[in-house]
Amino acid sequence: MPPLIAEVIAIGDELTTGYRLDTNSRWISQQLCDLGISVMYHSTVGDDLDANTNIFSVAVKRADVIVCTGGLGPTADDLTRQAIATMAGVELEMHEDQLQHLEAFFARRGRTMTPSNKIQASFPKGAMVIPNPEGTAPGIEFKTRHTDTPATIFALPGVPAEMKQMWTATVERKLKELTGDTSVIHHHVIRCFGSGESHIESLLPNLVKRGCDPLVGITASGGTISLRLTTRAESVERCLEKMSDTQTTIESILGDLVFGYNDDLLESVVAAQLRDANETLAIYDEGLNGDVAAMLLRSGGSITGSAMQGSGQLLNKEQVITKAQSLLDQSGIDRALVIGELDRSEEAIANGKSNFSVALVCYDRAPVAEAFSFSGHSATRQAIACKRVLNFLRLQQRRKPA
Ligand code: AMP
Ligand code: MG
Repeated sequence: MPPLIAEVIAIGDELTTGYRLDTNSRWISQQLCDLGISVMYHSTVGDDLDANTNIFSVAVKRADVIVCTGGLGPTADDLTRQAIATMAGVELEMHEDQLQHLEAFFARRGRTMTPSNKIQASFPKGAMVIPNPEGTAPGIEFKTRHTDTPATIFALPGVPAEMKQMWTATVERKLKELTGDTSVIHHHVIRCFGSGESHIESLLPNLVKRGCDPLVGITASGGTISLRLTTRAESVERCLEKMSDTQTTIESILGDLVFGYNDDLLESVVAAQLRDANETLAIYDEGLNGDVAAMLLRSGGSITGSAMQGSGQLLNKEQVITKAQSLLDQSGIDRALVIGELDRSEEAIANGKSNFSVALVCYDRAPVAEAFSFSGHSATRQAIACKRVLNFLRLQQRRKPA
């Protein structure tokens, strides 16, 4: 059977006006992809009956599965049920059991049910109810019969928590029945730092290409390169087995460029290294506004002291090492990191003259210093510079004591 084609529809004026970000479509698309359903269309439409009817009329012709969110509330701008009924040429009919369910919902909360809430118990003729355990708006499952190819619509509320709960409780199982496929899709992300996307891709020539199983996708964000392995099998365990060789190959080729997996961040990895070694770090930062210390602290790293000062004197490697050495001598800590001053002027950045020096001095190993460039797009270079320092720390933590 060819893969099912899906369309995701987000409904609401708050979305078309840009007031609110459509996070539902993203989440739903991820779930559909994981079920092996091919998402070919995303549509967003305001709270208007004609526009909604139109969107559904188009969607049922080009997709097998349509998942929409929003417009199921009790107010005049909630028009999803009417739009589905109009598109299919059927009436809305009251479901008495849903009406009782709604009345009980309001009674339990000690609230009076307004007449407008009644509409939430009406469904296009022929529809099935998707229960909403914690909200008032039940969802709608509707199968079209008037087009050449049948389509199934799943209409869910816009509130993300309700939508997700209903997906997991009902929609996912129904979609598995539709696809007739009980296999699972598993993803594993290998996170890298220290080299560019194209260089990393060139190191893995036969792995990052379409049609491989596991499929390896490569993306870059803020200097971090992620390799996303995806495969399908009858169980998660079997997926992991299928991925194992590719994973080992990637890790052996990339070596130290790999810093973590899935949701790992550089700062969380370094913070964990410090915790595991039971070591404390003092940071003296002239160049990066204390951001490295802040990132580590947020991730639970043990930083004993962090100072920021712009003396303008710590410019080269010797100077940062001397400062780090004096910090270590003073405070009886395990490690001292010093981030030197840098020239942030556009001219210096354009001419590659905005390098900054970083030193790490530890009680149990020889001092090290490196120079990093402060470069890239103005919106991201500060964060990337901090990551360069964190990556330096990560690699130094892995060095064996002298
Ligand atoms: P509705 O079901 O249309 O009454 O939507 C209820 C609330 O859910 C809206 O006020 C939004 O805050 C939120 N919401 C609706 N659609 C989306 C969406 N596509 N993504 C994220 N939040 C949404
Ligand atoms: Mg709405």
